[in-house]
Amino acid sequence: MKDLVHRIREGVTELLGAPDGYEVVLGNGGATAFWDVATLCLVERKAQHAAFGEFGGKFATATERAPFLDPSQVISAEPGSVAYLEAADDVDTYATPHNETSTGAIAPVRRPAGPDGAILLTDATSGAGALPVDLGQTDAYYFAPQKAFAADGGLWLAVLSPAAVERAARIEDSGRWVPEFLSLTTAVANSRQDQTLNTPAVATLLLLADQVDWLLGQGGLEWSAKRCAASAEILYSWAESREWATPFVARPEERSTVVGTIDLAPEIDVERVLAELWANGVQDVFAYRKLGRNQLRVGMYPAVDPDDVAALTACVDYLVETV
Ligand SMILES: *Cc1c(COP(=O)(O)O)cnc(C)c1O
Repeated sequence: MKDLVHRIREGVTELLGAPDGYEVVLGNGGATAFWDVATLCLVERKAQHAAFGEFGGKFATATERAPFLDPSQVISAEPGSVAYLEAADDVDTYATPHNETSTGAIAPVRRPAGPDGAILLTDATSGAGALPVDLGQTDAYYFAPQKAFAADGGLWLAVLSPAAVERAARIEDSGRWVPEFLSLTTAVANSRQDQTLNTPAVATLLLLADQVDWLLGQGGLEWSAKRCAASAEILYSWAESREWATPFVARPEERSTVVGTIDLAPEIDVERVLAELWANGVQDVFAYRKLGRNQLRVGMYPAVDPDDVAALTACVDYLVETV
């Protein structure tokens, strides 16, 4: 177990290019658990959230509900666009998704200017391992392994800056009650010994370790990001060349290279297209259900061959022309 956790911590450090002093910490419960960990151990008084889809919105709700924090500042944008963080004097923690999986929009990983000492928490659950990143720009780059890492859920990982580790130690020392399961300092102490507080799912760790090694063997994050970008280029240029398809995210620079969302014209019944695809073994390209759009959503994670994305577009062409 310790060897496995060690291999993952070293591999993630290398893959994501963590700066000196940053450390890879992990615990049980997935990215959703990390929102509670961060609410309890990282937000000092007030958080600012960028919310432009399901996942950014959920973290905002977590800090808003915390009785020991000031009401959060939530900067929202309509699904299909991006809300950007803004420098604010009364905020000690900024939070944004890197890749909003529900809508297929990406935000830059960049610390807003001023005030000194504020930290940035980046939800990289579907972006980590697939999007280029400068980790020096963020204090917690956290994710779960079931997206770009092609593993299973139930675990969270966070690459933490020294400022984030210090912040957690200070808050947890200050008398705020933090359940042990959600304590970041406990997770840091365990991770430093290549272990977790309680028993993790070993199969998840094995899948993750193998995927990290595979990505490193192929050429690391640069290779992975290029491969995803190649898939995205195929998907978006296809949609733009069809009269009945439109990329959902209007601004090209906000379009995700890992989760592509394509609206279909209203006369095309997307449920039928999905059913035919499914019946022929092409699965899981449905839109995020709560969005309720006539939309395809395509995972273009590094494990996906760009040729398969091209094949998918040919299948959709066939269905739209003949079904
Ligand atoms: C999937 C996802 C989550 C939730 O992850 P869990 O491991 O299920 O808690 C959070 N944020 C983003 C951006 C996601 O894609």
